[in-house]
Amino acid sequence: MPVEFKDYYKTLGVPRTASHDDIRKAFRTLARQYHPDVAKDKKRAEEKFKEINEAYEVLGDAEKREKYDQLGADWKDGGSRPPPGASGEAFRTHAWRSGTGAENFEFGGTGFSDFFEQFFGGRRGGTVQPGTEKGQDVEGVIMVTLEEAMRGAIRPISVRRNAVCPDCHGSAVQGRRVCPTCGGDGQVSVSRDYKVKIPPGVRDGQRLRVSGQGEPGSAGGPPGDLYLRVRMASHPDFRVEGGDLYYDLDLAPWEAALGASVSVPTLSGPVSIKIPPATQIGQRLRVRGRGLPGRDSAQGDLYVVARVQMPKAIGEQEKGLWEQLARESHFNPRA
Ligand SMILES: [Zn+2]
Repeated sequence: MPVEFKDYYKTLGVPRTASHDDIRKAFRTLARQYHPDVAKDKKRAEEKFKEINEAYEVLGDAEKREKYDQLGADWKDGGSRPPPGASGEAFRTHAWRSGTGAENFEFGGTGFSDFFEQFFGGRRGGTVQPGTEKGQDVEGVIMVTLEEAMRGAIRPISVRRNAVCPDCHGSAVQGRRVCPTCGGDGQVSVSRDYKVKIPPGVRDGQRLRVSGQGEPGSAGGPPGDLYLRVRMASHPDFRVEGGDLYYDLDLAPWEAALGASVSVPTLSGPVSIKIPPATQIGQRLRVRGRGLPGRDSAQGDLYVVARVQMPKAIGEQEKGLWEQLARESHFNPRA
């Protein structure tokens, strides 16, 4: 089956020439609008939120964006042919099949599109322990929002898998006719719904186990397990590293110079922090305990990273003040 091309620029509503900042801004606006916590139509918002995240994961990353741009229009007529620059490795991960060859698992509603998985990898098969009768483990991806990682959540997911056609047992024919159940594929698509518990304090890369939902065991052995690898969704305000959150705080030059008291968002509501005088660009201020909750590891912190924004236009009176500063200051940034 050819994989459908995804126009990530269209998803974010930006031109192909957009700067990194434009892309980030577009993502933030859309991610706020479609965040599953605030949207009225949750189901639709969740789909949309995932699409936006996927687009930003690619376009917000210089290396992935370059690779994506190289795909160009080739993709549209080439179908599933590897475009120049795409590694064979990325292709193999897409065409993953379980060890028996009889079944093929696909995950619906858990992670990224087939298109993304094909080019940026991530889907992987389970491992078989030789000599055991336990069914194979299966692995997928589940996208988790920061809010869910903060509070924990129960998330319904649906797992689609191809199973041997029950009517023709994979032979693709019934008598002398093409099997009407599977249309001659020998396989049918079966979808099952599960509820996955997302524990508070879950971390990016952590695997959640759904017991007994892997492949069936052989000779009466127990089934394998389904593992869902957590992929933390990009957040409009915060970056995540382990359990710590990072927030970029924009300051006026005089706020950085003189110090200020400003309000910053956290996952549990805004807090007021003190910016010390002579704050440097890139300087981090730690807000203890306002990261993700601890599980095995310690409670995370929030780091506020100072940035300075220059006014784009200055009025006559302001200009006079900057001129006075320029005359009287002994500061030489190039000394
Ligand atoms: Zn059939």
